[in-house]
Amino acid sequence: MWVAESTAPGDPQFNVVLHERLAGEVDADRLQEALEGALRAHDAFSLRFDEHEGTPCQWVAAADGEEAADPWVTYVDLSGEADPAAACAAWREDSLTRPFTLRRSRLFTAAILRESASVVHVHLNAHHLIADAWALNRVSLDLWERYSALTGRAARVAAGRQVASLVEAEAAYRGSAAFEEDRAFFRETLAGVQPALFTRATVAPVGGQRRARHTFTVDAGLVRRIRDAGGSPFAYLAATFAAYFSRVHRTEELVLGVPFRNRHTDAELDTVGQLANNLPLRVPVGPETTLPGLAAAVRRGTDALRGHERLSLGDVLRDLPAAGAGSRRLFDITLSYLRHPRPAPLPGTALASVVLAPVHHQDALAVMVHAFEDDAELRVDLDYAVDVFDEDHPVTAVAGHLLRLLAAGLAEPDRPAVTLPVLDEAEHKELTRLWQGPDTPYAHDRTVHSLITEQAARTPGRTAVIAADGTPSLTYAELDARSNQVAHALRRRGVGAGDRVAVLMDRSPLLIVALLGVLKSGGAYVPVDPGYPAERIAFLLQDSRAKAVLADDAGRAGDLPVPVLATAELLTGPDGPVAEQAGPRDLAYVIYTSGSTGRPKGVMVEHHSVVNRLAWMQNAYPVGEHDVLLQKTPISFDVSVWELFWWAIEGAGLALLPVGGQRDPRGILRTIAEQRVTTLHFVPSMLGPFLDLLEDDPELRAEASSLRRVFCSGEALPAARVEQFNRVFAGRGADAPRLVNLYGPTEATVDVSFYDCPTGEGPVRRVPIGRPIGNTRLYVLDAHGGLQPAGVPGELCIGGVGVARGYLERPELTAEKFTEDPFVPGGRLYRTGDLARWLADGTLEYLGRIDGQVCLL
Ligand code: AMP
Ligand code: MG
Repeated sequence: MWVAESTAPGDPQFNVVLHERLAGEVDADRLQEALEGALRAHDAFSLRFDEHEGTPCQWVAAADGEEAADPWVTYVDLSGEADPAAACAAWREDSLTRPFTLRRSRLFTAAILRESASVVHVHLNAHHLIADAWALNRVSLDLWERYSALTGRAARVAAGRQVASLVEAEAAYRGSAAFEEDRAFFRETLAGVQPALFTRATVAPVGGQRRARHTFTVDAGLVRRIRDAGGSPFAYLAATFAAYFSRVHRTEELVLGVPFRNRHTDAELDTVGQLANNLPLRVPVGPETTLPGLAAAVRRGTDALRGHERLSLGDVLRDLPAAGAGSRRLFDITLSYLRHPRPAPLPGTALASVVLAPVHHQDALAVMVHAFEDDAELRVDLDYAVDVFDEDHPVTAVAGHLLRLLAAGLAEPDRPAVTLPVLDEAEHKELTRLWQGPDTPYAHDRTVHSLITEQAARTPGRTAVIAADGTPSLTYAELDARSNQVAHALRRRGVGAGDRVAVLMDRSPLLIVALLGVLKSGGAYVPVDPGYPAERIAFLLQDSRAKAVLADDAGRAGDLPVPVLATAELLTGPDGPVAEQAGPRDLAYVIYTSGSTGRPKGVMVEHHSVVNRLAWMQNAYPVGEHDVLLQKTPISFDVSVWELFWWAIEGAGLALLPVGGQRDPRGILRTIAEQRVTTLHFVPSMLGPFLDLLEDDPELRAEASSLRRVFCSGEALPAARVEQFNRVFAGRGADAPRLVNLYGPTEATVDVSFYDCPTGEGPVRRVPIGRPIGNTRLYVLDAHGGLQPAGVPGELCIGGVGVARGYLERPELTAEKFTEDPFVPGGRLYRTGDLARWLADGTLEYLGRIDGQVCLL
């Protein structure tokens, strides 16, 4: 505590408060006298602290010192206030948040508050260095004994024990075998622990409040059912929190901080001082464990800890295997169970007493369960960090989830706790509404190339493809005729629906012809980057069982295991229409993704999925005759799919970036300016250098004046990048290009969600990945396939028409990643392995890869 205080001085987080309200006939003068006597009887209240050459030290201030003469207890009369009860409450809150000066000063304040003729309050606020909750209760007992004695009701007042004896006992303990045994116990108990902690906001709110409290009640009926089940309320509540938060963190264990009284001998029980200890309780939450099973584990765990409760948490943390002392943490949720079986101390009066234990900023959640009588309801105070439980994951919802989980676990004691329901009907309905993308009509019975053929017939003379470097452009008619030639040539070689044809070519008008030609032949194209190493090229050709390879000069260099067709040489035969060879359910392409482990896998995507994806984009961000898209993404990435085909269905034009140009911001800008590009894509890491260029040299901004829409995808789009985008294009006002964040895996056809980035000058806090696109469903699931509540991270799973057929020739992997859609009979689901959550504004936030989660210890 000394160290925490010295790093953040002037913080009230270690205040411990006893506050008692007494209604009835009370003699306030005597009460003040009794309280003063009770305080002076314990030397804890005379303790002083300081630092001497870097070492903290403590001593007991002389009883006859100057300062000791100052009044120890003040009397405050609030009965004349407009609302005396409220004034007393405000006074209490104010005291709670007033920090102590740690060095050389008194570490408590005490007061008697008068609310009215018949109501007074006793208030004692002490720094946790000198007292714990037990100690304050001990003072309270002492106070009422003294008061009784002073008012002639009872007699004997026991003398308080002194802190010095505790110091000696602690020194003896640290030299004993018991100390070593306790250390060994914790080393063993904590072996392999990987505590799941909340990510905290790095910046404290300026002047804003950091914590807040929410209270809910566990009604008497539930408490009775806990007892009937043979359990204790503490064990069941700890089990409930463990089950819920292990679900929130997607872990198979939750570590709770549990307070221990740590007082055994009469001397310890009787001494006012700080002995309380907070210890890590590991609660394993296995996939089969029931709530009663968890409660039993909690009971066993706490019993075991109680035998070793003397070892302070500081010592426990120091002994943890990992390095980096000081930052080590085992838990950020603490759970205390406080019983208040306090009869009124005096006949004819009513006492209401609370001890407000300290809550530390580091704790995301400090839970205080208050029990007043054995079978009555429980009051649960959730003291929470507002940066963790915010509008996205509201504490009120958490309280509801906990109660439902507890009730369900009691009603179904044999059901695994991880599957117990937590959502209420309204929450479930809201998730159902959010996950469903718009039900938009699209040409579900068509193929990509047939839509392009139609467009070519409508605008044969319009410029279609504009080459990078002086190569002649292609009109729609030329594109159509040449791709027909390629298709006929492939048909002659036996290519038909479902056959794979590799395309091993650099970016050029010929590439566009080749890709369209493959589709028209009925085949599915397999993009292969000519820049790949020879082994990788050979692997892709073999793994895809390509029937042929279409190559340009760049692609023909190597020795290939598959027949190679030089595309340019195919452009000689008949160029008339090709009869439709493929249907909407045939493959359009097979794109390989590397995946985190193992060999690359070919994702099989069907025509109707692509048609839907392009129709959604046209619906949301329409392009037409006056638009020019930029083809800059290598075709081995599926982002290229919309660059390659969208414009052609809608009658726009396509400008080709020079080969390799996607890494050159200057070159990109030049092409934008020369071809009047309106629409293009950036991965966020390339958007940065592009914007830097425009920001550093405002003169260059005119070269980007044709831009209308910029799409980002592939990796997280940083908020700072969006702010930079808005700065760079601020001069264009309402005419500024739009920035859109798209998200999606190859396995669900390019993108499945979209987010229109905010415009204007304001700061951007974060950039969500948005909402589902048309005919797409996005679920956030827990580790067991259940719906994760809003605000809680889970695996993002995708349903709907974009879900790919699977991985080529990889049935096991396909079965693992493509599963049944639990919410749509007959539907299929792709499990992305990405972590995401729903935000309060109804958009999704991307949080990284599930397997990339960092262990915080
Ligand atoms: P790919 O299959 O190559 O398209 O990669 C898909 C993966 O890239 C996703 O599963 C995400 O992990 C990541 N990703 C794609 N788009 C975004 C985005 N807008 N924000 C964050 N990550 C993204
Ligand atoms: Mg993608």
